Amino acid sequence: LVKGLESLKSQPCTTQDGHRISVWVNTGLMTDVVRSLSNGAEGVGLYRTEVPFMINERFPSEQEQRDCYREQLEAFSPNIVTMRTLDIGGDKALTYFPIQEENPFLGWRGIRVTLDHPEIFLVQVRAMLKASEGLDNLRIMLPMICNVSEVEEALHLIYRVYHEVREEGVNVSMPQVGVMIEVPGAVYQIKELAERVDFLSVGSNDLTQYLLAVDRNNPRVAGLYHSFHPAVLQALAKVAKDANSVGTPLSICGELAGDPAGAVLLMAMGYEALSMNASNLPRVKSIIRNIDLVWAKQLLSKVLTLDSPDVIKSTLDLALKEKG
Ligand code: PEP
Ligand code: MG
Repeated sequence: LVKGLESLKSQPCTTQDGHRISVWVNTGLMTDVVRSLSNGAEGVGLYRTEVPFMINERFPSEQEQRDCYREQLEAFSPNIVTMRTLDIGGDKALTYFPIQEENPFLGWRGIRVTLDHPEIFLVQVRAMLKASEGLDNLRIMLPMICNVSEVEEALHLIYRVYHEVREEGVNVSMPQVGVMIEVPGAVYQIKELAERVDFLSVGSNDLTQYLLAVDRNNPRVAGLYHSFHPAVLQALAKVAKDANSVGTPLSICGELAGDPAGAVLLMAMGYEALSMNASNLPRVKSIIRNIDLVWAKQLLSKVLTLDSPDVIKSTLDLALKEKG
């Protein structure tokens, strides 16, 4: 089986009836890069920049960040690398920047922190742009967006850095900028957000947590964290419908994309790119190459009529088992 999956590496991720989707990876550490390349990743849909921050004892300098980002960009060039701006708070802590809150998941997280500390954001974006010189395969992604004003403020800072580095002689193009859809409020503002950015990417881990009000890391309520909850599927389908109606590129980078059944449903909904942990990539590619888009859409239609996460899960398991 492993050998069979191995030979898939250079094959495109195309269904039997010719529908092509992109398979990307989520990265953080340099070890992810090696695994990603050997599994046939076509780009990076999510580079979690907080990982190099978390393994440090202080904020990494601009030069340190630049070296680290350059490694990622070079490893995947000419394919795109989507770098998420620092997403700390909630479950992601920095020892040298402690955040004490009663309700951290609803508190100071992601873009909220970096817009309150533009010096952190500006240094990071400078490092990203400088790292991209001569490669131009960088995309910048903003986490935890819930208001268009946050996008506008962040874009303003990114343009500012872009003009500064150009003036300093750095030969880089303006990168594409996108936002994560991971706060339920953002699901209802797809068109407004899409007007302002180049791409959208769903963070299904947080989106599921917030839609169902279930802490993604609390074992006591883990049984309620249903990735295939009907409300989650309806939200994901709505995002795809709205993003596709305005022609904005849409991907997903939460764990759901790395689940074979999740990947099939997402493709059927209209997601163009699935970003996952490298270890899930061969399996997802294998199932997509085994099915028809028409079949996946029929399965999606059926599943969207069901009201129980468990019934949905078993329906999916059965359908995929029949496809081998
Ligand atoms: C997500 O929330 O789905 C996501 C991809 O980001 P993270 O898991 O890093 O919060
Ligand atoms: Mg998230």
